[in-house]
Amino acid sequence: METNVPSEQLRQINRDLSRRIYELHNVFKISLELTSGMSRDQVLFSYIVNIIGLMRANGAVLLLPDAQQPRRFVPAISRGFDDEAAEKFSLDASCFRLPELGDAPEILRPAVLPGRLENNPNLAYCKKQGVELIAPFTNFGKIIGVVLIGKRVNGTPYGAADVELLMLVNNIFANVLNQIRLIERLEKLSTTDGLTRILNRRAFDDIISKEVTRSTRYESGFSLVLIDIDHFKNYNDTNGHQAGDALLRLFARLLQSSVRTTDVVARYGGEEFAVILLGVNKDGSAAFCDRFRRLITGYPFKHRESQPLGFISASFGVASCPADATSARQLIRCADTALYQAKEEGRNTVRWYQGTPKTVTRSRRRQFTPAFEESK
Ligand code: GH3
Ligand code: MG
Ligand code: MG
Repeated sequence: METNVPSEQLRQINRDLSRRIYELHNVFKISLELTSGMSRDQVLFSYIVNIIGLMRANGAVLLLPDAQQPRRFVPAISRGFDDEAAEKFSLDASCFRLPELGDAPEILRPAVLPGRLENNPNLAYCKKQGVELIAPFTNFGKIIGVVLIGKRVNGTPYGAADVELLMLVNNIFANVLNQIRLIERLEKLSTTDGLTRILNRRAFDDIISKEVTRSTRYESGFSLVLIDIDHFKNYNDTNGHQAGDALLRLFARLLQSSVRTTDVVARYGGEEFAVILLGVNKDGSAAFCDRFRRLITGYPFKHRESQPLGFISASFGVASCPADATSARQLIRCADTALYQAKEEGRNTVRWYQGTPKTVTRSRRRQFTPAFEESK
C-alpha cells in the first residue's frame, strides 16, 4: 500500500497539470475570440459567457462606468444572477486601490473585506448576493470596469490559480474594450461638426443615401429640409466672427431639440443646416418648418437687432422622397432649389420644391467650402 501513495500523488499532480493546460488553452481561445473584431455588444457577451465557463462560476456581472458618473460602475451585462438583483449592483472607483505601475489591481473578496471597506453598503450587497470575487481591471493605470464572480458551481473556493486566470482574461478584455472605445470615439469625431457638435456633412451624406435606398425599398417616405440663416454675413461683419460662431452653436442646439429623436440634424455647410424628417411627407413637414421658423424669429438671440429684419431669421427649402426625387443627389438639389426660391422671395420663409430641379447657381454653392468647415 505504501508504494501507492506517491503514485496517487503523481496522478493528482497529473490531473492538476492537465486541468491547468486545459484552462490555458481556454484562455488562448477566449483571447482569439475577444480580439476577432466583434461589435461592443458581442464582445461583452463573449466575455461574460467565457469568464463564467473558465471560472466554473454560477454567474458573473460586468460593471462598466456610468455615462453620467464615470467613477461609478454599473451593470452592463450579467448572466446567472437574478435580473432584478443584478441591476442593483453598483461600485465606486474609490473602493479600489490603484495598482503600482506594472502591478495587477487588487481583487476583493466580499467575505474577507479589508478594514477600510468593511462598512461599504455596495460591497455588503455583493456579499449578500453571493459574489465571491470582485475584480477591477485597468487600462493605462485607470480602472475601466469591474467584474463580479459568483460562487463556484461545485462550491469549492477560488484559489490563487483561478485568480491568475481571471486577471489574465481581464487584461485581454480591458485592452479590447479600450480599443473599442477609441474606435467609437474616432467614429464620433469623424461624423461630428467641430463647432456645433451636431452631425457633419460627411455623416449627413451617408445617412441620406441610406434613407433614400430604404425609402424606395420599403415605401416609407421622408422629407429633407435645408435651412439657411438669412444675412449671416451681415451678422458676422457687424458683431464679429466669434459672435457668429456662438449664433451657429445656439441655432444648432435649438434645431436639434426641435425635432424627434429619430430625425436627423446636420450642419450642411457654413450657416446652412439639413434636417431629415423620417416618415414625414411634404404636408407633414409644414408643421415642423413653421414651428421652427417662428421659434427663430422670436428667439432672443444676442445682437438680433443688428440684422436687416431686426431679428434672426432663416429660409427653408423642402423636398420629399420619393415624391420629388429617388436619388440623394437629386433630392438635395430639389431642396436647394426650393431654398433658393425662399431666398429670392424675400427670406424668412418656407418653400417646397415644385417642378424640375434648377441648376444651382455658383454663388450659392461657393459657401460650402469644406476647408472652412473642417478647420473648426
Ligand atoms: P443669405 O441671406 O443670402 O443667406 O445671406 P448670407 O449673408 O447668410 O450668406 P452668404 O453666403 O453671403 O454669407 C454666409 C457667411 O457665413 C459667410 C461666411 O463667412 C459665414 N460663415 C460660414 N461658416 C461660418 C462659421 O463657421 N463661423 C462663422 N462665424 N461664419 C461662418
Ligand atoms: Mg448660405
Ligand atoms: Mg445665409
